[in-house]
Amino acid sequence: VTAPASGEQLSESALSEQLKTAAAAAAKRTPNDFIFERVLGEGSFSTVYLARDIHTSKQYAIKVCEKLHIKREKKEMSIKREKEIMQLIGLYPNPFFVKLFCTFHDHSRLYFVMTYAKNGEILPYIHKVGCFDAECTKFYGGEVVLALEYLHKLGIIHRDLKPENILLDERMHILITDFGSAKMEADQERSTEGAAAVAGAGDEEAPGMRPRKNSFVGTADYVSPELLTNKPAKKSVDLWALGCLIYQLLAGLPPFRAPNEYLIFQRIVKLEYSFPDGFNPTAKDLVHKLLEKDGSKRLGCDEMGGYGPLKAHPFFEGLDWENLHTVKPPPIT
Ligand code: ATP
Repeated sequence: VTAPASGEQLSESALSEQLKTAAAAAAKRTPNDFIFERVLGEGSFSTVYLARDIHTSKQYAIKVCEKLHIKREKKEMSIKREKEIMQLIGLYPNPFFVKLFCTFHDHSRLYFVMTYAKNGEILPYIHKVGCFDAECTKFYGGEVVLALEYLHKLGIIHRDLKPENILLDERMHILITDFGSAKMEADQERSTEGAAAVAGAGDEEAPGMRPRKNSFVGTADYVSPELLTNKPAKKSVDLWALGCLIYQLLAGLPPFRAPNEYLIFQRIVKLEYSFPDGFNPTAKDLVHKLLEKDGSKRLGCDEMGGYGPLKAHPFFEGLDWENLHTVKPPPIT
């Protein structure tokens, strides 16, 4: 139940609504508690549905995974980790993440009941307008910075930040999703991944390289050099992805482009990218500082003084960091 702001009285109907929601969330749910309205999208190991809670009429996104498919692909551990990480995020509420309300299962499927991001992925918005202007990039880049700051404080590395995983709520604020590749930094330090991960051995795969259910899509544009050169991934892999995102928002395309994935990876490890004419010079400086080959030299990482220096970069000048999630986002035109 959400506490009203100080001095504010909660109306009887609002209170009853909240109690109904809390009671519904507390009770163990089954698929029969929801009306599955339509498919929102498909992932490698799941189908996500828009569903309505029959008790509260609230809409949720429900991720449904076939147990057999998970078992066949040896994904039990990664699904378990995804759930645990989402639960951890839920313990310390933050506005920039898809929330996991509850999970349940039946004989053949697992169900994750999550926040429904009404405006879907940010990617089609980039495609629709070609590229974002500096103000929009500053706003959405800023929200992603705050989201990463929060995740990294909890010791979580997302490892698959990309426009497909940045969803938008009904107010056009970001909701980051897909913790299928996420790891706790502490666990990560104990294991060495990288090339073995890229090869897709066992439960470990390079983030962004998971096959879809129906067709394979190579969405490895934001993979950092350390993941391709057998080095353990640290929090700074997400800062690399942030650099790719800021580039893509302003340029319309990701920084490392080539006809196939192998050539993209070559470009990434050689740090071979260029800026289109007219690219905002302050953003160029920021992207340069994020697309640092050496993860410990990336702006925002612990070795570089953490998030303070990143948020103080001139590109973000004037951004109201404290109230970003409540202000009206600039229109995407
Ligand atoms: P993969 O697991 O292969 O990385 P994915 O992240 O796209 O794929 P899912 O998390 O299963 O897989 O999501 C599939 C699609 O469903 C997403 O691309 C998105 O378009 C949609 N989707 C997922 N979660 C939500 C949500 N909370 N609200 C609205 N749409 C969602």
